[in-house]
Amino acid sequence: MIPIAKPIIEDDEIHAVTEVMKSGMIAEGSKVANFENTFSEYIGVNHAIAVNSGTAALQIALQAAGIGKGDEVVTSSFSFIATANSILYTGARPVFADISPDTFNINPDAILNSITPLTKALLPVHLYGHPAEMKAIMEIAEDKKLKVIEDACQAHGAMENGKHAGSFGIGTFSFYPTKNMTTSEGGMITTNDTEIDAIAHMIRSHGSKQRYLHEMLGYNSRMTDISAAIGLIQLNKLDDFNQKRMENARYLSAGLKGFAGIEIPQIRSGCTHVFHQYTIRVTGECKHERDQLVKLLGEEGIGTGIYYPIPIHKQPLYTNLGYTDSLINTEIASRQVISLPVHPSVSMEELDHIIKTIGELTG
Ligand SMILES: *Cc1c(COP(=O)(O)O)cnc(C)c1O
Repeated sequence: MIPIAKPIIEDDEIHAVTEVMKSGMIAEGSKVANFENTFSEYIGVNHAIAVNSGTAALQIALQAAGIGKGDEVVTSSFSFIATANSILYTGARPVFADISPDTFNINPDAILNSITPLTKALLPVHLYGHPAEMKAIMEIAEDKKLKVIEDACQAHGAMENGKHAGSFGIGTFSFYPTKNMTTSEGGMITTNDTEIDAIAHMIRSHGSKQRYLHEMLGYNSRMTDISAAIGLIQLNKLDDFNQKRMENARYLSAGLKGFAGIEIPQIRSGCTHVFHQYTIRVTGECKHERDQLVKLLGEEGIGTGIYYPIPIHKQPLYTNLGYTDSLINTEIASRQVISLPVHPSVSMEELDHIIKTIGELTG
């Protein structure tokens, strides 16, 4: 089976972990500080705060930005549940704006229609590694005096007009094993705001910057030096990993273009799409329904993923909270998308097999 995702762990990561283990300093320490500095330089911001998951990064970023009870945060329903749940954790209310069909990302016009006097922040997601429309989103935020927290958990290295995802507002990243780079579990917050940096560092560690002096309510969301050691090495490889993903995506798109009922991913002008996922649409013109195609691809040894089969506003957790939104582009996308293997370990022969198989199944 060609897997839909595969972390690349080599001897240097293993060696780095062993070194930390031998040092005896295995919790948060100098490796974490080093990883924060290196990551912030890579993204092009002044500060980074390492945490133990992307979910923690989202929650802490929102809290550090002052989001809480009584506030509304406009976000996308076409994402992983953590995006919206992080808003619920703070006591604020997620408000869902529909996506643009071309990139699957939140639509700036839909954001404008979702803003109320209670809106405090916007939380765009750079879905599949394609940057959300950050120029337009930052203009809205400036005009309406809103904070911007970017869910860049799938977008390490993605750019709009040369500027990294995660450097426009407050950035949040995940280093889960399936992401473009990993630390096993892990996350990062990126910001140019010195105050956000200070507060986020405190929330990460029980609201304290001085040991056993607690100034606010925080958590234990710390990253370990073991994870940071992996992250430092993976960050060095990230651009190569992303290049390989982009080459694989180009190859797939050249091969799949024109197949009946298959729509290949679009890249908005000025954007670097780092293809965390390579996601096609299966439209009504296809001989097979989406779920049938997934099954047939599986029988041919091709692993696929559906991100996401149920939009967040349709999840029981949200319908039980009283959400009754109808988001037409989000709902169509959730019925049409299939993600195909695009990660750096997919071979040329495997790409050819994917293209040939889809050609046969749709021809
Ligand atoms: C992975 C992911 C998260 C959460 O990251 P974890 O490290 O799994 O907590 C949040 N948002 C999106 C879009 C993700 O893909």
